[in-house]
Amino acid sequence: MDCLFCKIVAGEIPSHKVYEDDFVYAFLDIYPCAEGHTIVLPKKHFEKFTDMSDDEAASLFASVNKVAKTVGKTLELEGMNIGINNGELAGQTVPHVHVHIIPRRAGDGEGNMHTIVELHPSTENIAELAEKLRNSF
Ligand code: AMP
Ligand code: ZN
Repeated sequence: MDCLFCKIVAGEIPSHKVYEDDFVYAFLDIYPCAEGHTIVLPKKHFEKFTDMSDDEAASLFASVNKVAKTVGKTLELEGMNIGINNGELAGQTVPHVHVHIIPRRAGDGEGNMHTIVELHPSTENIAELAEKLRNSF
């Protein structure tokens, strides 16, 4: 398997592991955005989050929640961003699903995830858009 994160899970490439269970592996990002920037990934290879089933996604996020709580408590954080770059266009550079836990601290810029894209399109058709999405489940 020619996947960087599969190799990390298999121990073929070293990592700074912080947590592991049957389903996930978590380690510190080697190019951290902030001290304690942690990556949580499913041990099984999926390219994108949206390739996972509901159950697999639920298992992943149960473990993300556990890791985020411990990172937050241990590093005495008041906030963190928890998110996924899902797809190359959204900034995903390693094609194996992973969730970023990024510690936030006062004075770090304090921007939220809405600042990633700031197009602010018209909301004229927002009701139709919501209906279209509701009808797609
Ligand atoms: P993404 O852009 O969401 O695909 O994130 C990939 C992340 O993996 C980046 O934040 C990188 O810094 C991180 N990364 C890449 N290679 C390694 C590695 N060998 N060990 C730890 N983190 C890595
Ligand atoms: Zn992989």
